[in-house]
Amino acid sequence: MYKIMTPGPVQVPEKVRMARSRSTTNADLDPVFYDEYKALCEKISGLLHTDNETLILSGEGILGLEAACASLTEPGDQVLVLDNGIYGAGFADFVTMYGGEPTLYTTDYKNEIDPDELEAYLEENHDFKYATVVHCDTPSGMLNDIHRICPILKSFGILTVVDSVSGMFGNRVDVDAAKIDLLCGGSQKAISAPPGLTTVTISDDVKDAMNNRKTPIASFYCNLNTFRGYYENKWFPYTMPISDIYGLEAAIDLIAEEGEGLYERHARLANATRKALQEAGLSLYQESGFSDTVTVFEIPEGLTDVDILNRMKELHGIMLAGSFGELGGKVIRIGHMGASANTADMLAVMAGLEETLEFLGWKAEKSLLGTFQILLNDL
Ligand SMILES: *Cc1c(COP(=O)(O)O)cnc(C)c1O
Repeated sequence: MYKIMTPGPVQVPEKVRMARSRSTTNADLDPVFYDEYKALCEKISGLLHTDNETLILSGEGILGLEAACASLTEPGDQVLVLDNGIYGAGFADFVTMYGGEPTLYTTDYKNEIDPDELEAYLEENHDFKYATVVHCDTPSGMLNDIHRICPILKSFGILTVVDSVSGMFGNRVDVDAAKIDLLCGGSQKAISAPPGLTTVTISDDVKDAMNNRKTPIASFYCNLNTFRGYYENKWFPYTMPISDIYGLEAAIDLIAEEGEGLYERHARLANATRKALQEAGLSLYQESGFSDTVTVFEIPEGLTDVDILNRMKELHGIMLAGSFGELGGKVIRIGHMGASANTADMLAVMAGLEETLEFLGWKAEKSLLGTFQILLNDL
């Protein structure tokens, strides 16, 4: 068993694992389960600072992204796809799949999207039904300032779809302040439950857009309208994965109990990680837009991701991640999100990385572990 320090899936606390073994009921027929499901959805909305409705869908994080595009896109719809990372660009595929016409707004992959530049672009180009933006683009660790970006989009009458699968509950999300129309989340990132569930939090504007469609939604599983009236009618569109939902409920309870401390914990560990890596002489991949859930550093000259990752696993029992797409083979990613974002395990990561890089022939300017410890005490 490895210590999982990847940017999702992350470690799952015992309370969450135990909740998944609760005895089950018939989720379709038991009104108690409808109450529990609805209460959990409302709790998630509350933690995201909104009264907008949250739905929990049976499927991994990608389902939410596709459901957003399937439910909002009609043939010929113009969609703005904000792209400064792999997930950012990926939205264009879902838009196209459902007949929409994506316009990519592509900016430098090493920097966060500049809201002022976006605003200037929108002054000239704003005939879009909705726009997609990724909060934390996990392959590069890119955090976009959705609390500034989305209100600008909204001021041009553009619906906002945000993928915060790897951002939410590690970095703050205030749905109402940010004016997010459709927020996507996933169980296996900072939420710290196993993979299998996606959450969507949808505004009334999204509901209106779905109700005012001229063409039917070309999907069943990805049709968010199928949940309409589920509670009043006691009718889910498909049988809910009850044990997954019990696990999610326990994970959300832990998040609620931790309160503000959750964001302080992530910020403190992320800051110390970034600074310790840099002081040791490693280069972070990004220049701006650092997420508090994942840190991405460049592999030093002459070393390979396979060698680093293997030694971390085999000798230190720690699983880190490489990346993919253009970043494949060039960077290492440390996931410090959710339950994995704890001091003891991050100390082990730093110690292991220090030994591994030195073993592979790289000379640190300063001790990774020592610097990390000092920084943690100062932050
Ligand atoms: C993890 C993740 C998803 C969900 O998809 P995976 O299949 O787990 O990769 C979606 N968006 C982002 C930004 C993610 O990090």
